[in-house]
Amino acid sequence: MSDQNVRELIIVGGGPAGYTAALYAARADLAPLVIEGFNWGGQLMITSDVENYPGYADGVMGPEMMADFRRQAERFGAEFLTDDVTRVDLSEQPLRVYVGDDEFAARAVIVATGASARWLDIPSEQKHKGRGVSACATCDASFFRDRDVYVVGGGDSAFEEALFLTKFASRVHLVHRRDEFRASKIMVDRAEANDKLDFVLNAVVEEIIGDLKVEALRLRSTVDDETWEVPADGLFVAIGHDPNTALFVDQLDHDAGGYLVTKPGTTETNVQGVFAAGDVQDHTYRQAVTAAGSGCMAALDAERFLASFEGHPGTALTAPRPA
Ligand code: NAP
Repeated sequence: MSDQNVRELIIVGGGPAGYTAALYAARADLAPLVIEGFNWGGQLMITSDVENYPGYADGVMGPEMMADFRRQAERFGAEFLTDDVTRVDLSEQPLRVYVGDDEFAARAVIVATGASARWLDIPSEQKHKGRGVSACATCDASFFRDRDVYVVGGGDSAFEEALFLTKFASRVHLVHRRDEFRASKIMVDRAEANDKLDFVLNAVVEEIIGDLKVEALRLRSTVDDETWEVPADGLFVAIGHDPNTALFVDQLDHDAGGYLVTKPGTTETNVQGVFAAGDVQDHTYRQAVTAAGSGCMAALDAERFLASFEGHPGTALTAPRPA
């Protein structure tokens, strides 16, 4: 591939991290190509009102906020490709990113493919998503003031969501498929001490009942398969997230959960010129504002890397080959 066809920077992913990286990189004259995914916008596209993103004093709809992020990056010259990356080759310079048969090459790549909430995968869940069924209490709890809500899951996320929901809801029920929790003891102790919260153990949610809104849930016992219905105004699914790293796990260092590992205090991965930002490398904070912050860091890290790369054109910057 001739040098002319090698871009400075490709950003993979179109959520808060990818678009913020694009904004900073575009303003730094790196003319980034953002391969934003067919369903661009990330997890905020399934969120309704966002009330905790600084600057939107009156709140904003998730999809509208993502369109704003995108437009701001576009204003400074970021280029977008609304398609899914199908393969990457980070084994040597230039780094290569593929969309089907189309090959794109760049000196630096920012991976900002985010994470996806795990869902129960029952048909009625899809129907009620964003209308009584949510995977983000931080985003949606305030819509359930004085309501009766259920949370599914037995890990720290479920407990965190359930405890947060008790500030708004009149009653919170945590449904878990076993009678032992994965969550830390401190979270369980806190939940047990909260008189707005109770547990439904050895049970799963089998069906969400309601037409335009959630009205009830059908639960099923994991012990004897007995089913029963409970009235409910909302359901929060908190059974974990999966980072969207399938394309990268054989080439970039990752932890046991598949999250990309970055050098502390930076967005650098183990491959020179490859940076990771947002939820794809963060399973702790997972907020739009923290993702945007790390997208900014990734653009600055990439800019610094490219400056040193240009300064030493004769130096072979060969990235380590994947194991
Ligand atoms: P997690 O620890 O993997 O827990 C997921 C929970 O969902 C498990 O209890 C699991 O049940 C249940 N589950 C999974 N699939 C299910 C299904 N299809 N139907 C019903 N239940 C299902 O995930 P997480 O809670 O999101 O936590 C992820 C990581 O982030 C953990 O390391 C956690 O400690 C950390 N985290 C920390 C904090 C904090 O410290 N404040 C807050 C949130 C998360 P089983 O137990 O039966 O497998």
